[in-house]
Amino acid sequence: MFRLPTTTALLSLIFMLSTFHVGAQTEAPLKRFTFTHPQMGTLFNISLFAADSAQARKAADAARTRIDEINNAMSDYTAISELSKLSTTAGTGKSTPVSEPLWTVLSASQELAVKSKGAFDITVGPLSKLWRRAIRQKTMPAKSEISAARKSVGYKKLQLNTADKSVTLIAPNMQLDLGAIAKGYALDEALKAVEAQQVTRALIQGGGDLVAGDAPPGQAGWQVYAKWVTHQGQLRDTLLMVKRCAVATSGALYRFLESDGKKYSHIIDPRTGMGVTHAAMVSVQAPTAMQADALATTVSVMGPRKGFAWLQKNYKDIPAVVTFQEKGKPVQLGKLR
Ligand code: AMP
Ligand code: MG
Repeated sequence: MFRLPTTTALLSLIFMLSTFHVGAQTEAPLKRFTFTHPQMGTLFNISLFAADSAQARKAADAARTRIDEINNAMSDYTAISELSKLSTTAGTGKSTPVSEPLWTVLSASQELAVKSKGAFDITVGPLSKLWRRAIRQKTMPAKSEISAARKSVGYKKLQLNTADKSVTLIAPNMQLDLGAIAKGYALDEALKAVEAQQVTRALIQGGGDLVAGDAPPGQAGWQVYAKWVTHQGQLRDTLLMVKRCAVATSGALYRFLESDGKKYSHIIDPRTGMGVTHAAMVSVQAPTAMQADALATTVSVMGPRKGFAWLQKNYKDIPAVVTFQEKGKPVQLGKLR
């Protein structure tokens, strides 16, 4: 869920849909429609151009259904999801064939885990459960709890068997957590579902992340505002024009536990077991929302300067903006296109 940071936070970046993007119509007269859908602890917003309300509704319903399907497969908040059931096989030696969507997300996750040397790690579940509770109860987890959880964390303990698309969770008590990537995948799939209804001019947002299809009629792109909130509470706008790309934002600014003057985030460094303490906001623009979502979290784990340098080195064509405070001053690295 996306919430504005507290006043002590430095800078945050949120994306707001422009309200004035209906332009000159050069083709069939399309009308703009908007829909919402609460899912994955956030509100999805679907904006699209369609010939009439029947076509618009059909497209939006297809998107909603797809988002629900992905939630049912990939949520770690419900015991009956495909992901949660898979986690129950941890340490049994059993290999479980998984659905095509889950395989896609697990494969992308493992690839990024290797590339980021374990900064991005979907086996972080036992630690994220611990830190979610800690943040909720405003109490630091015990060192013993962290070290016990770490025994069940590590991407090398997750084995993907390409031949039959099955999965083995090697260590006992492992729990997979797709919180850093599944929302992005859901956005991509929702856009595909809309496009399957012959609606290509669509923008779908969910909790600070977005995916854009073709531009609105007569426009170069969807106008979205990147809104900056400084620690003095000032608002600054940057206008982005987006089409056929995705933008995701991640940061430790709005869900954290304060202890001994440090803010521990719900984003975890799997290599230490600790919630990350760098208060940075990271936005990544990528061809797919799955990639943008996962990379934004990875940079958040690595920390602003290290993460931005890593991204520039490994993903030259992927723009990102990272904002944070250093020696009392706001710093911005990079920018979006
Ligand atoms: P995001 O808001 O996309 O940055 O995702 C944050 C969520 O990803 C957390 O709430 C956890 O569920 C999960 N998570 C935390 N740390 C990591 C990590 N190092 N790698 C992958 N997922 C993580
Ligand atoms: Mg993410």
